[in-house]
Amino acid sequence: MIEIARGLLCEELTYFYIDETTKHGFVIDPGTDGKRLADYAKEKGYVIEKILLTHGHGDHMYGAEGLRAATGAPIVMHKEGKIYANDPSWNLSSALCGQGISFEADEYLEDGAEIVLSANPEFKVKMIHVPGHTTDGVAYYSEKEGLAFVGDIIFAGSVGRSDFPGGNSQTLFSEIRRQIFTLPDETVLLPGHGPQTTVVRERETNPVFNLYE
Ligand SMILES: [Zn+2]
Repeated sequence: MIEIARGLLCEELTYFYIDETTKHGFVIDPGTDGKRLADYAKEKGYVIEKILLTHGHGDHMYGAEGLRAATGAPIVMHKEGKIYANDPSWNLSSALCGQGISFEADEYLEDGAEIVLSANPEFKVKMIHVPGHTTDGVAYYSEKEGLAFVGDIIFAGSVGRSDFPGGNSQTLFSEIRRQIFTLPDETVLLPGHGPQTTVVRERETNPVFNLYE
């Protein structure tokens, strides 16, 4: 079950990804007030086991510390994310949020890591590293449910910017081809901004990849 909250900044999308059986689950990219997100979870009877960050930009992790404080859930990101979590000039929070965000995540994981719900081990996502928008960019992929939370890696009809610290457009294009376009065609992609899409639609129609071919 997926529910969406609006972030405070840049219309960022925060996803509640909740196991219907146990009502335990994950929050992906808490871009709004963490206490508000925690209150919503409590009201719905959700237990947030982990806070998953697709990458270390301020609009995606604005509420991470507040949500951690209110729920006790650990913050998870890719191992390259440490500099973004620590340094406001890397996470753009001074520019985006008007105040610098600096914190330490609880788990810095590697490509291929499995994140499993303790209340139901069948409910899990795999971290897929796709650098290029940032060095720490990841998708969280559920093979069983055929969906992936892709942050700012790829959007319906476009891709993430690569002109921020750690960005590289050639890396982004080649890693999307290698890590995202090789997922099953009908995999639903849930970006951090804008509408959802699918692997096959982006591989065949995304102008970034089809303009010069
Ligand atoms: Zn971003």
